[in-house]
Amino acid sequence: MKHRLTIHFPSEAVHQPITYRLAVDFDVAAKILRAQISPNRSGTMVVELSGDIDELAAAEHWLEGIGLELDRAQGEIRIDRERCVDCGLCTSVCPSGALAIGLPDWRLGFDAQRCLVCEQCIPSCPFEAINLVLTTRC
Ligand code: SF4
Ligand code: SF4
Repeated sequence: MKHRLTIHFPSEAVHQPITYRLAVDFDVAAKILRAQISPNRSGTMVVELSGDIDELAAAEHWLEGIGLELDRAQGEIRIDRERCVDCGLCTSVCPSGALAIGLPDWRLGFDAQRCLVCEQCIPSCPFEAINLVLTTRC
């Protein structure tokens, strides 16, 4: 199964070899969807973890134990059609092809099935037409 997490790193933990430890110690694969280090050297990483349910639980327990803050809220991307002007800027940052623009009408298309919820498109939109709607993991 897969869990999508937003992991907040305090500055002292930014250099932790998280993905390596998850793979070696817990047999959990970590796919980094977005990573950002702020000027004060703390960091945020959006990651998709893959493993079996017990391994994922143990891995997340370990992450919290080393001082990382986990945000387990799930999200989905919504496009505000009232704001979108179909400029296509967001399509250039979308790694999965979930956002596309082209024939026949040159309007923005969004394929939720392809969306990784990496959030890279949100700041790319000059019209604030892209939002993350949060839901809580069951
Ligand atoms: S960047 Fe914003 S306005 Fe432009 S196509 Fe994407 S959602 Fe629409
Ligand atoms: S969150 Fe945005 S950029 Fe990321 S995959 Fe989904 S549509 Fe593309």
